[in-house]
Amino acid sequence: MARIELDKLRKEFGRSVVAVKDLSLTIEDGEFLVMVGPSGCGKTTTLRMIAGFEDPSSGEIRMDGNPVNELEPGDRNLGMVFQSHALFPHKTVAQNIEFGPRMQKVDLETRRRRVREVAAMVRISHLLDKMPGQCSGGESQRVALARTLITEPDTFLLDEPLSSLDAKLRREMRAEVDRLHQELRKTFIYVTHDQEEAMTLADRIVVMRAGEIEQVGTPLEIYSDPVSLFVADFFGSPSMNLIPGRIENEAGSAVFAGERTTIALPPAFAGAAPGPGTLGIRPEHLAIGGQGDIVEKIHLVEPLGKDTLLYFDYGGEQDLIAVVDGVSTWRAGTELGVRFTPEHLFLFGEDGRRIARAH
Ligand code: ATP
Repeated sequence: MARIELDKLRKEFGRSVVAVKDLSLTIEDGEFLVMVGPSGCGKTTTLRMIAGFEDPSSGEIRMDGNPVNELEPGDRNLGMVFQSHALFPHKTVAQNIEFGPRMQKVDLETRRRRVREVAAMVRISHLLDKMPGQCSGGESQRVALARTLITEPDTFLLDEPLSSLDAKLRREMRAEVDRLHQELRKTFIYVTHDQEEAMTLADRIVVMRAGEIEQVGTPLEIYSDPVSLFVADFFGSPSMNLIPGRIENEAGSAVFAGERTTIALPPAFAGAAPGPGTLGIRPEHLAIGGQGDIVEKIHLVEPLGKDTLLYFDYGGEQDLIAVVDGVSTWRAGTELGVRFTPEHLFLFGEDGRRIARAH
Protein backbone atom coordinates (compact mmCIF):
# COMPACT_ATOMS: atom_id res chain seq x y z
CA MET A 1 0.00 0.00 0.00
CA ALA A 2 1.19 3.51 -0.72
CA ARG A 3 -1.27 6.36 -0.67
CA ILE A 4 0.59 9.63 -0.48
CA GLU A 5 -0.94 12.87 0.73
CA LEU A 6 0.72 16.24 0.31
CA ASP A 7 -0.88 18.75 2.61
CA LYS A 8 -0.09 22.45 1.96
CA LEU A 9 3.46 21.53 1.10
CA ARG A 10 5.74 24.54 0.81
CA LYS A 11 9.41 24.98 0.05
CA GLU A 12 11.29 28.23 0.22
CA PHE A 13 14.94 28.61 -0.69
CA GLY A 14 16.36 31.65 1.12
CA ARG A 15 14.09 34.66 1.36
CA SER A 16 13.17 35.21 -2.22
CA VAL A 17 12.54 31.81 -3.88
CA VAL A 18 9.28 30.01 -3.19
CA ALA A 19 9.78 26.83 -5.22
CA VAL A 20 6.58 25.10 -4.08
CA LYS A 21 3.57 27.08 -2.82
CA ASP A 22 1.27 25.28 -0.40
CA LEU A 23 0.64 22.35 -2.69
CA SER A 24 -2.10 19.89 -1.68
CA LEU A 25 -2.59 16.63 -3.55
CA THR A 26 -3.46 13.00 -2.87
CA ILE A 27 -1.78 10.28 -4.90
CA GLU A 28 -3.76 7.06 -4.76
CA ASP A 29 -2.28 3.64 -4.14
CA GLY A 30 -1.17 2.09 -7.43
CA GLU A 31 -1.70 5.29 -9.38
CA PHE A 32 0.63 6.50 -12.14
CA LEU A 33 0.82 10.22 -11.47
CA VAL A 34 2.83 12.48 -13.77
CA MET A 35 3.93 15.94 -12.66
CA VAL A 36 4.57 18.09 -15.69
CA GLY A 37 5.42 21.71 -16.31
CA PRO A 38 8.11 24.02 -17.64
CA SER A 39 11.58 24.27 -16.16
CA GLY A 40 11.60 25.80 -12.69
CA CYS A 41 7.93 25.15 -11.87
CA GLY A 42 8.84 23.12 -8.75
CA LYS A 43 8.34 19.50 -9.91
CA THR A 44 11.75 18.21 -8.81
CA THR A 45 11.57 20.04 -5.49
CA THR A 46 8.19 18.41 -4.80
CA LEU A 47 9.57 14.97 -5.66
CA ARG A 48 12.66 15.54 -3.51
CA MET A 49 10.46 16.48 -0.56
CA ILE A 50 8.45 13.26 -1.00
CA ALA A 51 11.73 11.32 -1.17
CA GLY A 52 13.04 13.01 1.98
CA PHE A 53 16.03 14.68 0.32
CA GLU A 54 14.59 18.13 0.93
CA ASP A 55 12.86 19.32 4.11
CA PRO A 56 9.57 21.18 3.53
CA SER A 57 9.46 24.76 4.87
CA SER A 58 5.91 23.96 5.98
CA GLY A 59 3.15 21.48 5.31
CA GLU A 60 2.94 17.75 5.79
CA ILE A 61 3.62 14.59 3.79
CA ARG A 62 1.64 11.51 4.81
CA MET A 63 2.06 7.96 3.56
CA ASP A 64 -0.91 5.70 4.21
CA GLY A 65 -2.12 8.28 6.72
CA ASN A 66 1.15 8.52 8.68
CA PRO A 67 3.22 11.72 8.70
CA VAL A 68 6.69 11.02 7.28
CA ASN A 69 8.28 14.49 7.41
CA GLU A 70 10.68 13.31 10.09
CA LEU A 71 11.57 9.97 8.41
CA GLU A 72 14.93 9.53 6.70
CA PRO A 73 14.78 8.79 2.93
CA GLY A 74 15.84 5.18 3.55
CA ASP A 75 12.88 4.62 5.88
CA ARG A 76 10.16 5.75 3.44
CA ASN A 77 10.11 2.61 1.29
CA LEU A 78 10.61 4.55 -1.93
CA GLY A 79 12.65 3.75 -5.01
CA MET A 80 14.14 6.62 -7.00
CA VAL A 81 15.17 6.64 -10.65
CA PHE A 82 16.89 9.74 -12.03
CA GLN A 83 17.88 11.08 -15.41
CA SER A 84 21.53 10.31 -14.70
CA HIS A 85 21.68 6.65 -13.79
CA ALA A 86 25.03 6.92 -11.94
CA LEU A 87 26.04 3.26 -12.09
CA PHE A 88 29.26 2.12 -10.43
CA PRO A 89 31.64 1.95 -13.42
CA HIS A 90 33.93 -0.76 -11.97
CA LYS A 91 31.18 -3.18 -10.98
CA THR A 92 29.38 -5.47 -13.41
CA VAL A 93 25.72 -4.91 -14.23
CA ALA A 94 24.79 -7.75 -11.82
CA GLN A 95 26.89 -6.23 -9.03
CA ASN A 96 25.30 -2.83 -9.66
CA ILE A 97 21.82 -4.32 -9.41
CA GLU A 98 22.49 -6.28 -6.22
CA PHE A 99 24.14 -3.35 -4.45
CA GLY A 100 21.09 -2.43 -2.33
CA PRO A 101 20.31 -5.95 -1.05
CA ARG A 102 24.01 -6.59 -0.41
CA MET A 103 24.17 -3.51 1.82
CA GLN A 104 21.16 -4.93 3.66
CA LYS A 105 23.06 -8.21 4.12
CA VAL A 106 20.58 -10.27 2.13
CA ASP A 107 22.08 -13.74 1.60
CA LEU A 108 23.92 -14.57 -1.63
CA GLU A 109 21.43 -17.12 -2.94
CA THR A 110 18.44 -14.78 -2.55
CA ARG A 111 20.41 -11.91 -4.09
CA ARG A 112 21.34 -13.98 -7.15
CA ARG A 113 17.77 -15.12 -7.63
CA ARG A 114 16.39 -11.59 -7.29
CA VAL A 115 18.99 -10.18 -9.71
CA ARG A 116 17.92 -12.78 -12.30
CA GLU A 117 14.23 -11.95 -11.72
CA VAL A 118 14.50 -8.16 -12.02
CA ALA A 119 16.93 -8.41 -14.95
CA ALA A 120 14.35 -10.53 -16.76
CA MET A 121 11.64 -7.97 -15.94
CA VAL A 122 13.52 -5.17 -17.69
CA ARG A 123 14.97 -7.51 -20.32
CA ILE A 124 18.67 -7.21 -19.57
CA SER A 125 19.44 -10.85 -18.60
CA HIS A 126 22.04 -10.97 -21.35
CA LEU A 127 23.92 -7.99 -19.90
CA LEU A 128 24.53 -9.17 -16.35
CA ASP A 129 28.27 -9.83 -16.77
CA LYS A 130 28.96 -6.66 -18.75
CA MET A 131 30.44 -3.46 -17.37
CA PRO A 132 28.29 -0.27 -17.46
CA GLY A 133 30.70 1.27 -19.98
CA GLN A 134 29.72 -1.48 -22.45
CA CYS A 135 26.00 -0.65 -22.17
CA SER A 136 24.09 1.80 -24.35
CA GLY A 137 22.09 4.67 -22.83
CA GLY A 138 18.85 2.69 -22.94
CA GLU A 139 20.49 -0.41 -21.45
CA SER A 140 22.01 1.67 -18.64
CA GLN A 141 18.59 3.13 -17.86
CA ARG A 142 17.20 -0.43 -17.66
CA VAL A 143 20.00 -1.33 -15.23
CA ALA A 144 19.04 1.71 -13.13
CA LEU A 145 15.43 0.53 -13.16
CA ALA A 146 16.46 -2.98 -12.14
CA ARG A 147 18.57 -1.58 -9.31
CA THR A 148 15.46 0.17 -7.98
CA LEU A 149 13.11 -2.76 -8.63
CA ILE A 150 15.22 -5.15 -6.57
CA THR A 151 14.59 -3.09 -3.43
CA GLU A 152 10.83 -3.72 -3.85
CA PRO A 153 9.65 -0.22 -2.93
CA ASP A 154 5.97 0.64 -2.41
CA THR A 155 6.40 3.80 -4.46
CA PHE A 156 8.59 4.62 -7.44
CA LEU A 157 9.77 8.20 -7.85
CA LEU A 158 11.08 8.90 -11.33
CA ASP A 159 12.67 12.24 -12.20
CA GLU A 160 13.01 12.75 -15.96
CA PRO A 161 14.36 9.19 -16.25
CA LEU A 162 14.28 9.14 -20.05
CA SER A 163 15.35 12.65 -20.99
CA SER A 164 18.95 11.70 -21.81
CA LEU A 165 17.84 9.12 -24.40
CA ASP A 166 17.26 9.74 -28.09
CA ALA A 167 13.69 9.94 -29.40
CA LYS A 168 13.33 6.31 -30.50
CA LEU A 169 14.82 4.85 -27.34
CA ARG A 170 12.73 7.20 -25.27
CA ARG A 171 9.57 5.81 -26.85
CA GLU A 172 10.73 2.24 -26.27
CA MET A 173 11.61 2.89 -22.63
CA ARG A 174 8.35 4.76 -22.12
CA ALA A 175 6.48 1.63 -23.13
CA GLU A 176 8.71 -0.35 -20.78
CA VAL A 177 7.94 1.91 -17.82
CA ASP A 178 4.24 1.64 -18.65
CA ARG A 179 4.44 -2.16 -18.75
CA LEU A 180 6.31 -2.27 -15.44
CA HIS A 181 3.63 -0.17 -13.78
CA GLN A 182 0.91 -2.44 -15.09
CA GLU A 183 2.77 -5.50 -13.88
CA LEU A 184 3.68 -4.18 -10.44
CA ARG A 185 0.57 -2.07 -9.69
CA LYS A 186 2.70 0.12 -7.41
CA THR A 187 2.41 3.88 -7.01
CA PHE A 188 4.50 5.73 -9.59
CA ILE A 189 5.24 9.46 -9.39
CA TYR A 190 6.93 10.62 -12.53
CA VAL A 191 8.35 14.07 -13.24
CA THR A 192 8.83 15.35 -16.76
CA HIS A 193 8.69 18.50 -18.84
CA ASP A 194 7.64 16.46 -21.86
CA GLN A 195 3.90 16.73 -22.50
CA GLU A 196 3.88 13.66 -24.73
CA GLU A 197 5.42 11.51 -22.00
CA ALA A 198 2.82 12.82 -19.57
CA MET A 199 -0.07 12.12 -21.95
CA THR A 200 1.00 8.56 -22.74
CA LEU A 201 2.00 7.38 -19.26
CA ALA A 202 -0.28 9.04 -16.75
CA ASP A 203 -3.43 7.86 -15.04
CA ARG A 204 -3.56 11.46 -13.84
CA ILE A 205 -1.52 14.49 -14.81
CA VAL A 206 -0.64 17.34 -12.47
CA VAL A 207 0.23 20.45 -14.46
CA MET A 208 2.47 22.74 -12.42
CA ARG A 209 3.22 26.38 -12.95
CA ALA A 210 5.39 28.62 -10.75
CA GLY A 211 5.20 26.32 -7.72
CA GLU A 212 1.44 25.79 -7.89
CA ILE A 213 -0.94 23.28 -9.39
CA GLU A 214 -2.57 24.71 -12.50
CA GLN A 215 -4.74 21.66 -13.28
CA VAL A 216 -5.13 18.01 -12.25
CA GLY A 217 -6.89 15.53 -14.50
CA THR A 218 -6.73 12.49 -16.73
CA PRO A 219 -4.78 12.98 -19.96
CA LEU A 220 -8.07 13.27 -21.86
CA GLU A 221 -9.45 15.90 -19.47
CA ILE A 222 -6.27 17.94 -19.69
CA TYR A 223 -6.28 17.81 -23.49
CA SER A 224 -9.95 18.36 -24.14
CA ASP A 225 -10.85 20.51 -21.17
CA PRO A 226 -7.87 22.74 -20.31
CA VAL A 227 -8.69 25.28 -17.59
CA SER A 228 -6.34 27.94 -18.92
CA LEU A 229 -4.35 29.21 -21.87
CA PHE A 230 -1.22 27.89 -20.14
CA VAL A 231 -2.50 24.30 -20.12
CA ALA A 232 -4.05 24.57 -23.58
CA ASP A 233 -0.77 25.77 -25.02
CA PHE A 234 1.41 23.23 -23.16
CA PHE A 235 -0.36 20.08 -24.38
CA GLY A 236 -0.64 18.97 -27.98
CA SER A 237 1.85 18.85 -30.82
CA PRO A 238 1.58 21.02 -32.80
CA SER A 239 0.07 23.21 -30.12
CA MET A 240 -3.35 24.78 -30.16
CA ASN A 241 -3.84 27.73 -32.51
CA LEU A 242 -4.32 30.79 -30.31
CA ILE A 243 -5.66 33.99 -31.77
CA PRO A 244 -5.67 37.20 -29.74
CA GLY A 245 -8.60 39.57 -30.15
CA ARG A 246 -11.78 40.81 -28.52
CA ILE A 247 -14.99 39.18 -27.49
CA GLU A 248 -17.91 41.30 -28.62
CA ASN A 249 -21.38 40.58 -27.50
CA GLU A 250 -24.43 42.47 -28.56
CA ALA A 251 -27.92 41.29 -27.81
CA GLY A 252 -26.78 37.76 -27.01
CA SER A 253 -24.97 37.18 -30.27
CA ALA A 254 -21.31 36.85 -29.44
CA VAL A 255 -18.50 37.19 -31.96
CA PHE A 256 -14.75 37.00 -31.68
CA ALA A 257 -12.98 39.85 -33.44
CA GLY A 258 -9.39 39.00 -34.29
CA GLU A 259 -7.07 41.42 -36.05
CA ARG A 260 -7.98 39.97 -39.45
CA THR A 261 -11.24 38.14 -39.02
CA THR A 262 -14.42 38.11 -37.08
CA ILE A 263 -15.75 34.71 -36.18
CA ALA A 264 -19.28 34.06 -34.95
CA LEU A 265 -19.21 32.24 -31.64
CA PRO A 266 -21.57 29.31 -31.12
CA PRO A 267 -24.67 29.83 -28.90
CA ALA A 268 -22.87 28.11 -26.00
CA PHE A 269 -20.79 31.30 -25.68
CA ALA A 270 -23.78 33.63 -25.84
CA GLY A 271 -23.16 34.72 -22.25
CA ALA A 272 -19.46 35.57 -22.72
CA ALA A 273 -18.65 39.01 -21.34
CA PRO A 274 -17.19 41.48 -23.85
CA GLY A 275 -13.49 42.29 -23.52
CA PRO A 276 -10.04 41.18 -24.60
CA GLY A 277 -9.67 37.44 -25.08
CA THR A 278 -8.05 34.63 -27.01
CA LEU A 279 -9.73 32.17 -29.33
CA GLY A 280 -8.25 28.66 -29.40
CA ILE A 281 -8.67 25.74 -31.76
CA ARG A 282 -6.54 22.61 -32.12
CA PRO A 283 -4.90 22.00 -35.52
CA GLU A 284 -6.96 18.82 -36.06
CA HIS A 285 -10.18 20.82 -35.71
CA LEU A 286 -9.57 23.35 -38.45
CA ALA A 287 -11.63 22.21 -41.44
CA ILE A 288 -9.84 22.79 -44.71
CA GLY A 289 -11.31 23.37 -48.17
CA GLY A 290 -14.79 24.44 -49.14
CA GLN A 291 -16.20 27.73 -48.02
CA GLY A 292 -14.37 28.55 -44.81
CA ASP A 293 -14.75 31.29 -42.22
CA ILE A 294 -11.65 32.75 -43.80
CA VAL A 295 -9.60 32.20 -46.94
CA GLU A 296 -5.87 31.91 -46.33
CA LYS A 297 -2.77 31.06 -48.29
CA ILE A 298 -0.66 28.01 -47.42
CA HIS A 299 2.96 29.01 -47.01
CA LEU A 300 4.38 25.67 -45.88
CA VAL A 301 3.37 22.05 -46.31
CA GLU A 302 5.03 19.65 -43.87
CA PRO A 303 4.40 15.96 -44.66
CA LEU A 304 4.89 13.75 -41.59
CA GLY A 305 3.93 10.49 -43.29
CA LYS A 306 0.84 9.57 -41.31
CA ASP A 307 -0.50 13.13 -41.65
CA THR A 308 0.46 16.51 -43.05
CA LEU A 309 0.77 19.92 -41.40
CA LEU A 310 -0.43 22.91 -43.36
CA TYR A 311 0.87 26.31 -42.23
CA PHE A 312 -1.26 29.27 -43.21
CA ASP A 313 -0.08 32.87 -43.13
CA TYR A 314 -2.16 34.55 -40.55
CA GLY A 315 -0.74 38.03 -40.38
CA GLY A 316 2.42 39.13 -38.61
CA GLU A 317 4.39 36.37 -37.01
CA GLN A 318 1.39 34.19 -36.46
CA ASP A 319 0.78 30.96 -38.33
CA LEU A 320 -2.41 29.03 -38.32
CA ILE A 321 -1.59 25.32 -38.36
CA ALA A 322 -3.95 22.64 -39.61
CA VAL A 323 -3.34 18.91 -39.61
CA VAL A 324 -4.87 16.73 -42.31
CA ASP A 325 -4.77 12.95 -42.62
CA GLY A 326 -2.30 11.20 -44.90
CA VAL A 327 -0.13 12.76 -47.56
CA SER A 328 -1.74 16.01 -48.64
CA THR A 329 -1.81 17.12 -52.26
CA TRP A 330 -2.08 20.80 -51.33
CA ARG A 331 0.89 22.89 -52.38
CA ALA A 332 2.40 26.01 -50.84
CA GLY A 333 0.86 29.13 -52.39
CA THR A 334 -2.64 27.64 -52.64
CA GLU A 335 -5.46 29.67 -51.15
CA LEU A 336 -7.96 27.65 -49.17
CA GLY A 337 -11.04 28.13 -47.07
CA VAL A 338 -10.41 27.47 -43.39
CA ARG A 339 -13.32 26.83 -41.05
CA PHE A 340 -13.20 27.06 -37.26
CA THR A 341 -15.37 24.10 -36.26
CA PRO A 342 -17.71 25.75 -33.72
CA GLU A 343 -18.00 22.78 -31.35
CA HIS A 344 -14.21 22.69 -30.94
CA LEU A 345 -13.63 26.34 -30.12
CA PHE A 346 -12.04 27.40 -26.85
CA LEU A 347 -12.32 30.90 -25.48
CA PHE A 348 -9.98 32.41 -22.90
CA GLY A 349 -10.47 35.67 -21.02
CA GLU A 350 -7.93 38.41 -20.45
CA ASP A 351 -6.68 36.64 -17.30
CA GLY A 352 -5.87 33.50 -19.32
CA ARG A 353 -8.67 31.48 -17.70
CA ARG A 354 -10.95 29.50 -19.96
CA ILE A 355 -14.43 30.91 -20.47
CA ALA A 356 -16.84 28.06 -19.91
CA ARG A 357 -19.43 27.13 -22.48
CA ALA A 358 -23.03 27.22 -21.37
CA HIS A 359 -24.47 23.74 -21.67
P1 ATP B 1 13.56 21.54 -14.01
O1 ATP B 1 12.66 20.83 -14.97
O2 ATP B 1 14.41 22.60 -14.65
O3 ATP B 1 14.34 20.63 -13.10
P2 ATP B 1 11.61 21.94 -11.90
O4 ATP B 1 10.23 22.21 -12.29
O5 ATP B 1 11.94 20.58 -11.44
O6 ATP B 1 12.60 22.42 -13.04
P3 ATP B 1 12.73 22.81 -9.43
O7 ATP B 1 14.07 22.20 -9.69
O8 ATP B 1 11.87 22.16 -8.44
O9 ATP B 1 11.94 23.00 -10.76
O10 ATP B 1 12.98 24.32 -8.99
C1 ATP B 1 11.94 25.20 -8.61
C2 ATP B 1 12.55 26.57 -8.26
O11 ATP B 1 13.34 26.47 -7.10
C3 ATP B 1 13.45 27.14 -9.32
O12 ATP B 1 13.25 28.52 -9.37
C4 ATP B 1 14.83 26.81 -8.83
O13 ATP B 1 15.77 27.73 -9.31
C5 ATP B 1 14.67 26.89 -7.33
N1 ATP B 1 15.58 25.99 -6.62
C6 ATP B 1 15.59 24.64 -6.69
N2 ATP B 1 16.53 24.12 -5.88
C7 ATP B 1 17.14 25.18 -5.27
C8 ATP B 1 18.18 25.30 -4.30
N3 ATP B 1 18.80 24.23 -3.78
N4 ATP B 1 18.52 26.54 -3.91
C9 ATP B 1 17.90 27.63 -4.40
N5 ATP B 1 16.90 27.58 -5.32
C10 ATP B 1 16.52 26.37 -5.74
